Amino acid sequence: MAKIKMKTPLVEMNGDEMTRILWGYVKEELINPFVELKSEYYDLGIEVRDETDDKVTIEAAEAIKKYGVGVKCATITPNSDRVKEYTLKEMWKSPNGTIRSILDGTVFRAPICIDSIEPCVRNWIKPITIARHAYGDIYKDSEMKIEEKGRCELVFTNDIGNEKRQLIHNFDGDGIVLGMYNLKSSIESFARSCFNFALDTKQELWFSSKDTISKTYDHTFKDIFKEIYENEYKNKFEEEGIEYFYTLIDDAVARIIKSEGGMIWACKNYDGDVMSDMVATAFGSLAMMTSVLVSPDGKYEYEAAHGTVQRHYYRYLKGEETSTNSIATIFAWTGALRKRGELDFINDLVKFSHTLEKVTLDIVREGIMTKDLALITKNKDIKVVNSFDFIKNVRKRLEKEL
Ligand code: NAP
Ligand code: MG
Repeated sequence: MAKIKMKTPLVEMNGDEMTRILWGYVKEELINPFVELKSEYYDLGIEVRDETDDKVTIEAAEAIKKYGVGVKCATITPNSDRVKEYTLKEMWKSPNGTIRSILDGTVFRAPICIDSIEPCVRNWIKPITIARHAYGDIYKDSEMKIEEKGRCELVFTNDIGNEKRQLIHNFDGDGIVLGMYNLKSSIESFARSCFNFALDTKQELWFSSKDTISKTYDHTFKDIFKEIYENEYKNKFEEEGIEYFYTLIDDAVARIIKSEGGMIWACKNYDGDVMSDMVATAFGSLAMMTSVLVSPDGKYEYEAAHGTVQRHYYRYLKGEETSTNSIATIFAWTGALRKRGELDFINDLVKFSHTLEKVTLDIVREGIMTKDLALITKNKDIKVVNSFDFIKNVRKRLEKEL
């Protein structure tokens, strides 16, 4: 079989630890034999980030802006342990955070669903995609302990020194206070990314906040979504037969639990942080969660939602057998290749992505899986395989189907 040819490169970002090992296997066994891969390669492994003073991350983000599609391996976000472990010059920032802020993008996380792994919520038969607004709110707040009697105010001073003041609370004694903010431009980008992604995936879009209580802050989010929807997206949504739906966060939670899934749920920063963990856990496993960063002007970066699976990597380094799940990594590749195929009108690439996803899940349906899935499947007849053998099995099946 002739390899599928590509037109435009996609941006390939390698990463760290166990996922870097999987990355190599996946490319060697599932991509390179079938696709004449055109990629612009960036090594975001921690050593190269350190050598380049993290410039490589910025270059990778710029390349995604240029080519429109990227695929990324999980990377270490350094903390003080990592600085020691790799004798880093600095505690470099999270590459995902850097790329997200350069692209001004929103992250959409969706579970990969298989019949033999039932979500904790029985009626969830379709994936629920969470979109988290990853800017501002309590993640960039300013907090203070109050330890005496006194008056606390919000004060805004403009450039020529005029002040606007508003009472927060008259304290009689000990208490706490926090100030947080957001930007209209960031909320607008968030809204556009969500509307675009809903159109792209033909799913309905929900947005929730607490506008009845937070009459200015949350209400502004609601208003911005409404305005952008009415002015820019209403017609397109009607053409596709999909809906945009706003409701209060508590009502959204209740409705989501009773729903069959199949929607994109746009959440404010904190809600998204909490709800994405709930949804991931309820659907079964972090190892089955995909993640795509979408910019408001339609650039896409695909990755697995999980991290570098450090504990497995240390076992791998000791020469012990690992059974790490590569499905989300495989789906990051298929997501990126499919998008590349759609943008460049390469039907074979779109079809290949679909087939690779299908055979990957077929293998699991037939009972061949990694340890993490063996623990949660209702399938009784299973064979637990190691990291590499899982990919080998997928390849054998892929060769048959293509
Ligand atoms: P993690 O890599 O997601 O792993 C946490 C645990 O979840 C693993 O120890 C493993 O449990 C299970 N797990 C996750 N993915 C799995 C897979 N594919 N197959 C099987 N089991 C899987 O999170 P972490 O250990 O907290 O973080 C490790 C590093 O990843 C950190 O340096 C962090 O900065 C980085 N990180 C990167 C990203 C990213 O690049 N997007 C995201 C999150 C974290 P068992 O050990 O019980 O088997
Ligand atoms: Mg969280």
